[in-house]
Amino acid sequence: MSNNCIFCSIIGNEISSTTIYEDAVVKVITDISPANKGHAIIIPKKHFKDIFEMDEDTASHIFTIASKISKAMKEALNCDGINILQNNGEAAGQTVFHFHMHVIPRYLDDTVTI
Ligand code: 5GP
Ligand code: ZN
Repeated sequence: MSNNCIFCSIIGNEISSTTIYEDAVVKVITDISPANKGHAIIIPKKHFKDIFEMDEDTASHIFTIASKISKAMKEALNCDGINILQNNGEAAGQTVFHFHMHVIPRYLDDTVTI
């Protein structure tokens, strides 16, 4: 838990969110400002600022969950593709400094720019 961290507050249920999946290590929620309908973010329950701080067991688990969420999303939304992306550092476009991975459904005719 880190002070003044919006994702720690979401993990602690102090700020509400829509949960898609949860286990001992991660919470998967819908993005408040989705790039496309169904945009999900995978958030580790422990506070890591970015990938540079994260241990590899947690990183592996997060990618396993990204794989499962992607397959479930493709089935549920019948999307044509999925972007999995993850920003580390201000220079890379990170805006919330608690590690998270984006899973974004895509359609051949959508106009999403990432
Ligand atoms: P970043 O730019 O750091 O990779 O992504 C941060 C993401 O967190 C953005 O897509 C933004 O919409 C999302 N976000 C920021 N604040 C909240 C919040 O309070 N709730 C939820 N569900 N998503 C948030
Ligand atoms: Zn945090």
